[in-house]
Formats: sequence, C-alpha cells, structure tokens
Amino acid sequence: MSCTAVQNLISQYIDGRLSGAEADVVREHVQECDDCAQDFKDSQFLSRLLKENLEFPEPPKDLPRSVIRTVERTKPEK
Ligand SMILES: [Zn+2]
Repeated sequence: MSCTAVQNLISQYIDGRLSGAEADVVREHVQECDDCAQDFKDSQFLSRLLKENLEFPEPPKDLPRSVIRTVERTKPEK
C-alpha cells in the first residue's frame, strides 16, 4: 500500500473505524515507514487535542506540512 493511501487511513484507524485487515496494514506500514509513523503520531496527538477542544483554531502557518494535512483531515464537519 502506498504512503498516501496509508496516510488517508490513519485518522480512521485512530477513530477505530478500520476493519481488522486494514488496521493491520496501517500498523505494519507505520512500523517500517518513518514518514507515516510521524503522520501517525501527529494524528494521535491531534485527535486527542480535538476531543479536548472541539473549537480547534486554524492551524498556525509554521506547523509542519504533515500536521496541517492531519488537522484538515481530522477537523470535525461543520
Ligand atoms: Zn509510508
């Protein structure tokens, strides 16, 4: 599975919305891929943040690109 595909699944993984097989793919990929491991950590961090603070502000511009991408993805629907 490509990094892009894995990164698209990470937020669903963290929300517990992936099937067992998909969750395994994500888990195995982040163990071997530094980029996706970082994305995974960012997503976990942000999902905690979002649960604690649903009025999440716009992401600061100096955030790493991967974090901004994750914020866009995990932001609750308006
Ligand atoms: Zn990857």
